[in-house]
Amino acid sequence: MWAKQARTKVVATVGPACRDEQTLRRLLQAGVDVFRLNLAHGSHEEHARTVATLRKLSGELGQVVAVLADLAGPKVRLLPLKEDRLELQAGQEVWLAREPGNVPAAPTQDGPAPAVLGISHPQVLDALRPGHRVLLADGTVALHVEQVEPQGVRCRVVQGGVIYSRQGVNFPGVHLGLPALTEKDLEDARWAAGQEVDFVGLSFVGQAEDVHRLRRLLEEHGSRAAVVAKIERPEALDHLEAIVQAADAVMVARGDLGVETDVAHMALAQKRIILLCNQYQRPVIVATQMLDSMRHSPLPTRAEVTDVANAILDGADACMLSGETAVGQYPVQAVEMMNRIAQSTEAAFAAGCTRSGRFFRRQVVHPVTAALVESAVHIARDVQARVIVVASHSGRTALALASYRSHVPVLGVSDQPHVLRRLCLAWGVVPLPEAPAADSRRLCAFLEEKGLAAGELSPGDRLVMLRGTRLGAVQNILVVDEVGRREEG
Ligand code: ATP
Ligand code: MG
Repeated sequence: MWAKQARTKVVATVGPACRDEQTLRRLLQAGVDVFRLNLAHGSHEEHARTVATLRKLSGELGQVVAVLADLAGPKVRLLPLKEDRLELQAGQEVWLAREPGNVPAAPTQDGPAPAVLGISHPQVLDALRPGHRVLLADGTVALHVEQVEPQGVRCRVVQGGVIYSRQGVNFPGVHLGLPALTEKDLEDARWAAGQEVDFVGLSFVGQAEDVHRLRRLLEEHGSRAAVVAKIERPEALDHLEAIVQAADAVMVARGDLGVETDVAHMALAQKRIILLCNQYQRPVIVATQMLDSMRHSPLPTRAEVTDVANAILDGADACMLSGETAVGQYPVQAVEMMNRIAQSTEAAFAAGCTRSGRFFRRQVVHPVTAALVESAVHIARDVQARVIVVASHSGRTALALASYRSHVPVLGVSDQPHVLRRLCLAWGVVPLPEAPAADSRRLCAFLEEKGLAAGELSPGDRLVMLRGTRLGAVQNILVVDEVGRREEG
């Protein structure tokens, strides 16, 4: 229980393939820490049912679980297609229509008839010019803009392929002028606040101000949800440092990033984002296609396994599953596989014990706290502690500790339940519910009792306890406790 299977956190997207109670329970037991609701799909009622089920399971299993509500953002999508799917052939003419149904019948030439596609935000068509590229189906189908007309934009298929209803439409390099938060996002954010979700994902963030705006909106609706900035367009990379500082957590959203920017740059972009997040002690999630082939296969490809491992070695706090759990055939196996890869990979951290010195740490916590956090990691290793317990009011001390990738397992406690749930994204920190966080003596007694009962601790085992300043003490406190000897000392 204390030393969870993997120290890297697993985020799983909920969808038709896993939202029944039994599968959610199995996903939790397989090691999911954060459940993601993609608000681009499904209804509020459906997502509310999922939240209720997760709360119930969390109580039943005594496991802290966090919910991430992911806003759709200003993503342009195809309107439903007549047959739900359409094959486009290279050379074919395609109209992006302002109003489907009101497009002139083009003079028929040889080859397939022109296709007419409706899109969710037709106002973006004004930004298009001849020569611009339009990408469909995750970038696999490419169009070339030939002419902008009152009824719509005439394009030519450069790279053919199959497209489906509701898929995203990308216009790389074109400034579309859409707001970071659409009307739907505002409504969804209010809904998320009402559901008391723990994280809200901000899609297509462009600058730090977008993050502040969403946080203000959430606060106005009584929500203390953490804002996850999703890095998925070039503008976000231009303002990366300010966005990382503004956000509570960050997602490397490779789905759209790989279409909006040259996919060949993505690996370096991922490393750059992760490094900055590590420095600022912001949990960072790597997302999209991590075990993609497991949507249809019980085993991942070698490349996927290596991708997950490399993300962890880069410094990712969490890896995310999307279609693998939302619509895949093997949701539970995908989580189990993620855990297995993570566990194997984390052995690399054990060898070095800490990563201190591997990167330059920004001053996020008070210098005294920072010194004690580093000491706690060294002391825990030197006295061969069974566990490090970090008691944190805001969660920042726990995040600082997480950034050391301590080989000794870390338990997180807090007097604030919402902070405890936030720790579901912090690398290696197992949030412990219902612990008396504010009182050192009672906390030690509680841990000993629980640990002995669960078989996690034996008499003589050592515990390192670190507490932040705002938790029932004016100063940071670092304690080494020996199980069963507390009364004498
Ligand atoms: P999209 O661009 O379509 O949003 P995505 O990669 O952002 O794709 P994910 O959240 O990763 O979407 O989910 C993968 C797929 O699972 C989606 O394309 C969608 O088909 C499906 N899906 C996710 N959530 C739901 C839901 N609540 N109801 C139905 N289908 C869902
Ligand atoms: Mg997406």
